[in-house]
Amino acid sequence: FIEIENVFQSFGDGAGSPPVLENINLDIKQGELVCLLGPSGCGKSTLLNIVAGFIKAEEGSVRIEGEVVTAPAINRLVIFQDYGLLPWRTVGQNVALGLEVKKVTRAEQNIMITKYLKMVGLEDARDRFPHQLSGGMQQRAAIARALAVQPEILLMDEPFGALDAITRMKLQEDILTLCRETGTTILFVTHDIEEAVYLADRIVILSANPGRIHAVLDVEMPHLRERTSDDFVLMRD
Ligand code: ATP
Ligand code: MG
Repeated sequence: FIEIENVFQSFGDGAGSPPVLENINLDIKQGELVCLLGPSGCGKSTLLNIVAGFIKAEEGSVRIEGEVVTAPAINRLVIFQDYGLLPWRTVGQNVALGLEVKKVTRAEQNIMITKYLKMVGLEDARDRFPHQLSGGMQQRAAIARALAVQPEILLMDEPFGALDAITRMKLQEDILTLCRETGTTILFVTHDIEEAVYLADRIVILSANPGRIHAVLDVEMPHLRERTSDDFVLMRD
């Protein structure tokens, strides 16, 4: 479904600039949730941006359903590490962004905005501007904005980094449900190994300098996903 083939990226202006990503080969199946782990600076965000079409890889290619990615598209969305909210738009208007691109009617937009802001617990922040929100709230607004579009592919760059444990667990459940029920394919960057084990079908570990695929782990431990309400109680203590 997503075929990453021999991707190489250096951002270099000639000799002496070491490669950031080298020899990256990875096939991701439709509906699969792949977590990307690796040290800071190893090229995780760069790889996400290449898959999204924001950066053209210096060498190699990314194909989605057989077609080479050359530009960003609404059916594959990135949730950026730095949220990427438009500061002059309210939370509600930010969520509406992708829906406008998809030419969803006003009435339908309103329904979606309400639904997804509720999912991330921001229904009361709809008319506030990003600078009036905490970092975690901005992050949740960015998640709502991406989910509202119902993209085929979600590229999530540490989407839960700024969230408290309870909110993170709730959104982890929402993401798993999304993946199972709609077959959304997800590439998910995290620094949290526990999160990766909990969410992923496969975990890809990158090494740094140069960023290479160090290991690919199949995660077949569905029992780990049997969370009970007790887990949530524990988290509150
Ligand atoms: P973190 O976990 O801290 O988010 P990361 O794995 O996402 O790190 P990247 O942001 O992909 O890392 O950066 C990888 C390397 O590429 C870094 O050394 C960074 O300085 C470099 N880099 C990223 N984007 C650019 C750019 N546009 N121009 C030049 N160098 C870049
Ligand atoms: Mg990053």
